[in-house]
Amino acid sequence: MDYTVRRTCRLCGGELELLLLLPDTPLANEYPRRRGDWQEKFPLYLSQCCDCRHVQMPVQVSPERLFSDYQYQSGTSPVFRAHLEELAVRVTRLLGGTDKRILEIGSNDGTLLRALADCGHYPLGIEPARNLANAASRAGLPTLCRFWPDFTGEKPPGEQDAVIALNVYAHVADMDGFTAAVKRVLKRGGWFIFEVGYLRDVVERGHFDVIYHEHLDYHQLRSLDPFLRRHGLYLRDVERNESQGGTIRCFASTEDGEQSESLKRLLAEEKVALNQEALFNFWVDTRTARDEIAQAIYTASQRGPVDGYGCPAKLTTLAYACGLGQHRIRRIYEDNSLKVGRYTPGTHIPIVGTEKLYRAPPETLVIFAWNFAEDIMRRCRENGFDGTFIVPMPKVQVIS
Ligand SMILES: [Zn+2]
Repeated sequence: MDYTVRRTCRLCGGELELLLLLPDTPLANEYPRRRGDWQEKFPLYLSQCCDCRHVQMPVQVSPERLFSDYQYQSGTSPVFRAHLEELAVRVTRLLGGTDKRILEIGSNDGTLLRALADCGHYPLGIEPARNLANAASRAGLPTLCRFWPDFTGEKPPGEQDAVIALNVYAHVADMDGFTAAVKRVLKRGGWFIFEVGYLRDVVERGHFDVIYHEHLDYHQLRSLDPFLRRHGLYLRDVERNESQGGTIRCFASTEDGEQSESLKRLLAEEKVALNQEALFNFWVDTRTARDEIAQAIYTASQRGPVDGYGCPAKLTTLAYACGLGQHRIRRIYEDNSLKVGRYTPGTHIPIVGTEKLYRAPPETLVIFAWNFAEDIMRRCRENGFDGTFIVPMPKVQVIS
C-alpha cells in the first residue's frame, strides 16, 4: 500500500474530526498511456483539527509516487506566467533591491527562476520531478533534483535572502520538518514567501474539486499564524489573489513585528467566514453542486457529442464526484503536450491536442480548466467554435 492515514493534526498534533467525504479516486496526476490500464484508487476526505481548526486530508500517499512523473508545467499557461513575472517584481521590492539569493522550493519548469534572474537575482531551484528539474537546468537555471529538505550527504544552501514556495505548502506531509528547514537556510531578516490555496475561497465558492490527494492542507491564516510562530517565522503580510481559483500570498519574516492591516482584517474575518456553520454549508453545497453539474452535462449529451477542454488535476475529483466517464465525455482537448496521447485517471477519457477541436467540433464543450474559462472561451470563439460551453465551477453555467 502506497498510503498512510494520519490520526492527528499535521500542524499541532490535535485530534481530527471528519468534515467532508468524496468518492475514492485514483491519483489525479497519473495519466495512463493505454485505455483500460488498471489504476489503484485511494480514499478521499477532509478532516478538521479540534484544536487549531486546520482543515486537512489525513490520507497521505507517498510523495515519490505523487510527484516523480509530474505532468504540470507552470510555463504552459500564459495567465500563470504573467502572475510569476509580477511576483518577481514584488519580491524585488520587498527585499529592497537586486543581487539577492533566493531559493525556490518546487521550482517546476523554472518559470519563476527565469523571472527572478531577469530581475537581477541569483535564484536556485529545488524540484523533485526529474523531467522538470533537468529541463530547467538545461535552460541555464540552477536546479537541484530532490525533495525539500532532503540534503543527505550534501551541504544545504544557507544565508538566503528569501525562500519562495508556490502551491507547495499544501502538499507537505511533514510540515514541521519542512518549515524548520526553511528557517535554517534563511539569513536574519530573511523572508519566507509562499502562496497556497485559501480555505476561505474553497468554502465560499464551493470549489470542492481542488480536493485531491496532492493537496494535503487547506490553509487558513488563523491556523498558520501560530504554527509559523512556533518555528520562529512571523506572518507579517498577506495578499489575496485569484490565481488558481483563490490563493493567499503570505510573507513571513524571521523577525517579529507589526502585522499589516490586511492580515489583521483577514484573521478577524475568518472567525465568521470559517465557523462551524460555514463549513457545514460547504458540505451541503458540495452535494448540490455535484448533482447540478451531472445534470447539465447529461442534458447536453442528449443533444449531441460533449467534449472537454483542459485536463487539470482537479478534473479527477470532479469526474468521480459527478459520474463523468467516456459515456458522457467523448474526448478532452489539452494544451500541455505531456498529457496529450494519454487518458484521464481512472475514467480513461482520451486526451488529444487542441488543434483537433476545430476538425470535428462537438455540440458542447465543458471547460474543465474553469479558472481559465474566459480566456479559453474567447480563443475557441475566435477559432470558429460556435457550440455551447459548460463552465462547471464555481456555479455551473451553460453558455450558448
Ligand atoms: Zn491542529
